[in-house]
Amino acid sequence: MIIVMKKGADEADLTAVKKKIIELGYQPHVIYGETRNVVGAVGEEQGKEKLQALLLMLGVENVVPILKPYKLASREVQSQSSEVEIIPGLCFGGKEFIVAAGPCAVEGREQICDTAVAVKKSGARLLRGGAYKPRTSPYSFQGMEEDGLKLLAEARDMTGLPIVTEVVNPRDVDLVAKYADVMQVGARNTQNFALLKMLGQLDKPILLKRGMSTTIQEFLMSAEYVLSEGNRRVILCERGIRTFETATRNTLDISAVPVLKQQTHLPVIIDPSHATGHASLIAPMSYAAAAAGADGLIVEVHPCPEKAASDGPQSLKFDDFQVMMDKLRAFVQVADREMA
Ligand code: PEP
Ligand code: MN
Repeated sequence: MIIVMKKGADEADLTAVKKKIIELGYQPHVIYGETRNVVGAVGEEQGKEKLQALLLMLGVENVVPILKPYKLASREVQSQSSEVEIIPGLCFGGKEFIVAAGPCAVEGREQICDTAVAVKKSGARLLRGGAYKPRTSPYSFQGMEEDGLKLLAEARDMTGLPIVTEVVNPRDVDLVAKYADVMQVGARNTQNFALLKMLGQLDKPILLKRGMSTTIQEFLMSAEYVLSEGNRRVILCERGIRTFETATRNTLDISAVPVLKQQTHLPVIIDPSHATGHASLIAPMSYAAAAAGADGLIVEVHPCPEKAASDGPQSLKFDDFQVMMDKLRAFVQVADREMA
């Protein structure tokens, strides 16, 4: 249920409403608005009618059901788009179109530091790089683990770029959180509910990728797991889904961008590398992402893609990344957004 507070309702009214919601067995989540506040009361669907009693309380204007199964992620609860702050001056979901770039995996000091310097020069605002890699084969490179996280931190110190890196296993959450500015949940873990609940308890932004066979509704239910634990800083990432098509690694569901934008207030970005599997398709899909209204991109860039330990064919060389970023500006402007 959404409890809409009156314009003039004060803090005491809000506190009383939150207390009553808890008494009735629900969790209150306050969304502070410019003119009025609303409180999302989330919990068991069955018996939620008893929340109608809140209508009688001081400062309450209305009590309305949330129709979508995802509650806190829904635009019904919060019509205004969320801005997810990474560091001061850097937000997903605001006016700026944000690009995160870097190698699929951290492979060594020179590789990650050179990439950080190059992508920063081209206008990337975050450095990506996996230290824990969820590989299809157990015999493939699994990542440098904590040594990789340390190298990411060095690259951050050198360039000032915040780092986004994947956490694969719930037991590594604390360790990865020690280094990461943004915790990435990969497509293979979109419905790892134990992991999502743990990340919901962190005070850190979460980049949640869409699973290769999750519907948009299931994707939003995964976001809901994080939000319902108290962490509101979730960024959604469409990275291609499985279809019958084999010309590309996955099929980029570009319409997921406007659909998600209608359904949720959370920022939405595109990963054109995993979506296509081919370096030559990254630029056109990035332009399409900007045109479709995405809030940013996460792109794989490698100093020498031919030698990459993972995902070389879908990684851009430094020069090609620079060319793409230069052209991207025009699309971003037409979409009424900005690039730094
Ligand atoms: C990645 O970003 O390196 C990755 C493994 O992506 P995905 O989870 O989308 O496959
Ligand atoms: Mn990859």
